[in-house]
Formats: sequence, structure tokens, C-alpha cells
Amino acid sequence: NAFASLGLSNEIVQALDEQGYTTPTPIQSAAIPKALAGHDLLAAAQTGTGKTAAFMLPSLERLKRFANTSASPAMHPVRMLVLTPTRELADQIDANVTSYIKHLPLKHTVVFGGTNMDAQAQALRSGREIVVATVGRLLDHVGQKNIQLNKVDILVLDEADRMLDMGFIDDIRKIIAMLPKNRQILLFSATFAPEIKRLANDFMHQPETIEV
Ligand code: AMP
Repeated sequence: NAFASLGLSNEIVQALDEQGYTTPTPIQSAAIPKALAGHDLLAAAQTGTGKTAAFMLPSLERLKRFANTSASPAMHPVRMLVLTPTRELADQIDANVTSYIKHLPLKHTVVFGGTNMDAQAQALRSGREIVVATVGRLLDHVGQKNIQLNKVDILVLDEADRMLDMGFIDDIRKIIAMLPKNRQILLFSATFAPEIKRLANDFMHQPETIEV
């Protein structure tokens, strides 16, 4: 399996085998080694290119190195946050996480608006290393202290241009301000409007640009 040569561990490669992934897509070949090395990424990517695995696989690899199997929720702070514009995309990403994470001792959940907060709050409070979220609902949970973002190592902004078009720029800035200073940011977008470049300038550390 060609994913092994990108630096991913057996547990992840095995899950990919079971999914029938044997060959990385171009964006995966470009993004995975750079993200694994800890770089911030500015990636131009359309849906259908395999972008979800391009940001999830290196992130899982990095989280795995520090996985903590303790049962205490305090020992499972959120380490990776994936922000998406819509609940459909959040759900789809979370389904992918379920398959990639199969052989890893990491927990994940998804939160989005339009449904009751209680079950989401309970999941967040019981400890999840990976949280996939829409922006407004994430901030609702932060406001209710169901989640703290001060241990986040990796932030993914997926379909960043759509989130900006939907008016989420201030909320995204608010969320980034809650993260530790030395986090990694992986930004995926179909286009790079000036507002996205400004966001990158303000918050990212010498991002690597990826276009495929
Ligand atoms: P995405 O662009 O992330 O929405 O992925 C598009 C579709 O391609 C999804 O159904 C993925 O499960 C699938 N996919 C992603 N990467 C690969 C790969 N390397 N080999 C086969 N299928 C893949």
C-alpha cells in the first residue's frame, strides 16, 4: 500500500486497506508529508479530490504519537478541531474519520446546528480528541463550557471560502484566538479570495502552499 511510504503507521494503512485505498490522490501525496512534518498548509482543493484524507490522515498520525488511553475525560481534551460550513459536510467528514480511526485509540464526535445540544454536550464532556463541527454550534458549546479549545494542536478549516461566504469570518477569528499559540492550521479552500489570504497572514506560520 503506497500510503505506507508517505510516513503513515500500520494502524492507519490497515484501515485504508480495508477501505480499498491503495494509491494516494495527488493532493494526498502533496499534503500528507508536509502536514506530518508539522507545517501549516494552504491547500487549493475541490470536493472529490480526496481532500478529507489529505488533512485527516497526517493529523491522525500526529495525534496517535501522543494518544492517551486513560478513561478520564480530562485526559481526552480536544486535540483536533475540524470546522466545516455545513452539517452535511461535517457528517461526511465524521463518517470518514470513523473508518480511518478504526485501529487507533482515539475518540471523535461531530456537532452541528439544527439538532438538540444535549447529546452533543454529553459526548464532548465525556472526552473526544477529534471534533468535527460547524462554526455556530461549536461556539454555542464553548459558551456552555461543554468544550475547551486550549489543548487543540491541529485546526482544519475545510471549504474555508464557503465559510467566509456564509459570514463566519469573525467567528473563525474568535475560535482561532482560543487556541494555543503553537497549533498547526490546515486550510483547504477551492479559491483564495483576499479575505482568506488575510486570515492566513494573521494566523498561520509560514504556510506551505499546495495546488494540484
Ligand atoms: P473527498 O474529496 O475527501 O470528499 O473524497 C472523495 C471520495 O474519494 C470519498 O468518497 C473518499 O472516500 C474517496 N477517496 C479519497 N481518497 C482516496 C484514495 N486514495 N483512494 C480511493 N478513494 C479515495
